[in-house]
Amino acid sequence: MSLIVKKFGGSSVANAERIFNVAKIIIDDYKKGNDVITVVSAQGDTTDDLIAKAHEINAENPSKREMDMLLTAGEQISVALLSMAIEKLGAPVVSLLGWQAGFETDTNHTIARIKKINTERLQNEINKKKIVIVAGFQGINKYDDLTTLGRGGSDTSAVAIAASMKADKCQIYTDVDGVYSADPRKVTGAQKMKEITYDEMLELAALGAQVLNNRSVEMAKKYNVELEVLSSLEKKSGTIVKEKVKMEKTLIRGAAKDENVACISVVGLKDSPGVAFKLFNKLAQHKVNVDMILQSVGRDLTKDISFTVPLDQANEALEAVKSLSDTFEYKDLIKNDSIAKVSIVGAGMESHPGVASKMFEALYDAGINIKMISTSEIKISVLIDQKEADRAVQVVHDKFF
Ligand code: ADP
Ligand code: ASP
Ligand code: MG
Repeated sequence: MSLIVKKFGGSSVANAERIFNVAKIIIDDYKKGNDVITVVSAQGDTTDDLIAKAHEINAENPSKREMDMLLTAGEQISVALLSMAIEKLGAPVVSLLGWQAGFETDTNHTIARIKKINTERLQNEINKKKIVIVAGFQGINKYDDLTTLGRGGSDTSAVAIAASMKADKCQIYTDVDGVYSADPRKVTGAQKMKEITYDEMLELAALGAQVLNNRSVEMAKKYNVELEVLSSLEKKSGTIVKEKVKMEKTLIRGAAKDENVACISVVGLKDSPGVAFKLFNKLAQHKVNVDMILQSVGRDLTKDISFTVPLDQANEALEAVKSLSDTFEYKDLIKNDSIAKVSIVGAGMESHPGVASKMFEALYDAGINIKMISTSEIKISVLIDQKEADRAVQVVHDKFF
C-alpha cells in the first residue's frame, strides 16, 4: 500500500465528463489499496474569467486581498464537483479547501509562499480511509485571510503535500503526456523526454514552459520529491522529474519562450560610479525582480541602462525609477512590453563551446534580431520582438533537434 498524491490541472476537470474521467483514475488507485490525496485546479479558464470579472469592477488595481478572496472560489468549485463525482461512483471522499488541509502561507497576497502544512486533518481523513480532494493554489495567512500561491500554483500545492506527507508518488496530470523539448502544441518536432533533472526542469519552467510551475520544481528538488508529469486523457507513462538522469547525448534539453516580460530603458544617465547601484538598489526596495541587464558603453559622459522585469512588475519598476529623479538625471524612460524571451536549456552545454553561436545562427538565418543576451552554465536566453517569438522557438529548436 502506498500514499499517492495526484494533481489535475484546469483542463483535466473542465466539464462533467472530464471530472468523471478524473474520478475514475483516482478510484482505480484507491481500489488497489492505496491512500490517495488529490489536488485540483479551477475548471478550464475559470481563474482567467475571475480575473476579468475583477477588472470589470476595478481595471487598474483591485486589492490583492480581495483578488485572493475571489480567485480561491475557482478551486472551491472543482473540489466540490470532483468529490460529488467520486461519491456518485460509490467511493468514500471528502473535499478540503486549502486552509482545511492545513496550508499556512506568508502574507504576500496573490503570490504567497507556503510556510508549513499542518497535516493533522489530512492524516485523519486518510486514517478514515477517505479519498481526500484538496483545493490547489490556496492557503491561509497568520491573519486568517485567504491567500493564493501565484498562477499555476496548484502544482506547488501537490508537491508540498507529497513532501510533508512523505508520499510514495507525486503525479501531475495535465493535457499533454509529459515534458517535451518545447511546447508540443506550438513547436513541430518537439520530443517527449523520459526523464529530466530538477535543475533542467527548473530552468525550463522559469523560462516559460508552463507545464510545471517553477516553485513546484524548486520544492520538489528541496524535498527530493520525484514527480511524474502525465496525461489525464491517455493512459501511458509520462516524464519523470528527479535529481539525476541517465546521461544523454543531447547538448540541449529544451527551448522555451516567455512573453510575460517588459524591457525598461533608462536613457542618458550620467556616466559616473554608483548609478547602477542606486538604480538596482531602488528596484530591489520595490521588490522588482530584474532579470537581464544591458549597459551601453559610456559616450559624451552619458550611458543607457536597459533591464527586463516580469510584465506585471513593469509599472512598479517605472515608479521606482521615477522616484530616483532627485538622485540622478536621465533623459528618457522607456517601457517596451512587446518583447519576448526565448531560451535554450541543457546541462550538456556547460562543456560544449559553440552552443550560443549555433543558437544565434538559427536566429540570423531566420532574420530575427536579438536585443539582449544572457547566459548561465545551463541556459542561454535572448530578448526579441514578441511577434517573432513562436517562429524563433521553432527555428532554434530545429537547429538542435
Ligand atoms: P494544467 O492546467 O494541467 O496545469 P498548463 O496549461 O498549466 O496545464 O500546462 C500544460 C501546458 O503546458 C500544455 O498544454 C503545453 O501546451 C504547455 N507546455 C509548454 N511548454 C511545454 C513543454 N516543454 N512540455 C510540455 N508542455 C509544455
Ligand atoms: N487556477 C490557478 C491558475 O489558473 C492555479 C493553477 O491552475 O495551478 O493559475
Ligand atoms: Mg499549470
